[in-house]
Amino acid sequence: MNERLRSIPSVDALLSDDLALPLVEAYPRPLLVEQIRALLDEVRQSQDEAPVQRRDLVATLGRRLAALETPSPRPVVNASGIVLHTNLGRALLAESAIEAVTAVARGACGLEIDLDSGSRGSRDASCSEALVALTGAEDATVVNNNASAVVLAVNSLALGLEVVVSRGELVEIGGSFRIPDIIARSGARLREVGTTNRTHLRDYADAIGPNTGILLKVHPSNYEIGGFTSAVTLPELAKLGRERDVPVVEDLGSGALVDLSRYDLPAEPVVSASVRAGADAVTFSGDKLLGGPQAGMVVGRGEILRRMKTSPLKRALRCDKMTLSALDATLRLYRTSTNLEQVLPTLRYLTRDIDQIAATARAAATSIRERLGDDFEVAVKACESQIGSGAQPTATIPSRAVAIRHPGHSPIAIASHFRAADRPIVGRVSEERFWLDCRCIDDPAQLIPATWPAAAER
Ligand SMILES: *Cc1c(COP(=O)(O)O)cnc(C)c1O
Repeated sequence: MNERLRSIPSVDALLSDDLALPLVEAYPRPLLVEQIRALLDEVRQSQDEAPVQRRDLVATLGRRLAALETPSPRPVVNASGIVLHTNLGRALLAESAIEAVTAVARGACGLEIDLDSGSRGSRDASCSEALVALTGAEDATVVNNNASAVVLAVNSLALGLEVVVSRGELVEIGGSFRIPDIIARSGARLREVGTTNRTHLRDYADAIGPNTGILLKVHPSNYEIGGFTSAVTLPELAKLGRERDVPVVEDLGSGALVDLSRYDLPAEPVVSASVRAGADAVTFSGDKLLGGPQAGMVVGRGEILRRMKTSPLKRALRCDKMTLSALDATLRLYRTSTNLEQVLPTLRYLTRDIDQIAATARAAATSIRERLGDDFEVAVKACESQIGSGAQPTATIPSRAVAIRHPGHSPIAIASHFRAADRPIVGRVSEERFWLDCRCIDDPAQLIPATWPAAAER
């Protein structure tokens, strides 16, 4: 043990060793010192007894320093079959949106300047105009995500007042977005009405009083209630709101700008329909079905939007130039392109021809089989993709996958091997196999893993 301790160099000795020269030239000294200290501490505490070799120390150091340069989040391949996967970054941007972001990232832009008059302008103006044109609303605004859009709406319209919500719509969307908590944190009080499975118009009507701020309708994005159910429709609720002079807000969640049934996809609520149905404000996400960057939209009546746009919270929740330029480019496609289902990746993947997906799956299967060897069973199989992000949670779209299994390795071990690829490949495990849904795969070469490590290397 003493011999080992004696073999551990000091930080300075290692730094001045010729072996470390390439690292000393490539990285700043404080970083090298920090990393060497940490490494030497680990070596001192380890139970190993053999003397340490400087060559090994430098090699480990080199690997750790290289790892620090790995970008995060890391680009991955989405073979999960969920087109809008929240954990994988949701919508992919259209090429024109990517170009727009790059241009404003690299140079100055007219974010808040009216280039005709030279006077101060509004950063949302262009997106608002597009949203007005696309939804038929009187006005619109944009914040960081739909969660903040809901916070802004509740806080601007119901601060210190009650927000009336059906018990069937008190949803939790992913980890920490829960309607009751969001209402409380927005400075309003939740007034639950109805029951989990049935809420009637009179439940809302009975709850309205001098302390009512808004009536809130929430799209139950990630679940469905079946059986003996009844919910109040938006037109009914909007009529009640008008009669009693209480604003009606709808949190639409995904919120499609075009009717998906036009593309033979499961129908999702369309924003313009909610506007037409009389909602005073509608909130929805930018990176779900819309297919743009993370953002939260509010569209609705002019007077209601004015209250939100002048709130100090609006300033705290405002978007940056990159988000706004990507959103603007995306909305432009909705207005001006004649082949939206080609230029908007979300729609392109959702509407992708099954024969094309099958061809990708066959090509990928051939390469994967070659790479992994004959011990693996690699087959093209039918599977079901999902839209994701709370859009039509129970609806699926027929797709094709490469399904892989091995008599000696669990599907979880196979999944982990694919995630270890240079560009990690994310599939899913089910029915004793590892599945790579090819719906969102443009190039079969993206699905080829490293060779399976020989037993000795594992
Ligand atoms: C997804 C969703 C949200 C949250 O939207 P983000 O853009 O992720 O903040 C809020 N409400 C509903 C109904 C949703 O589906």
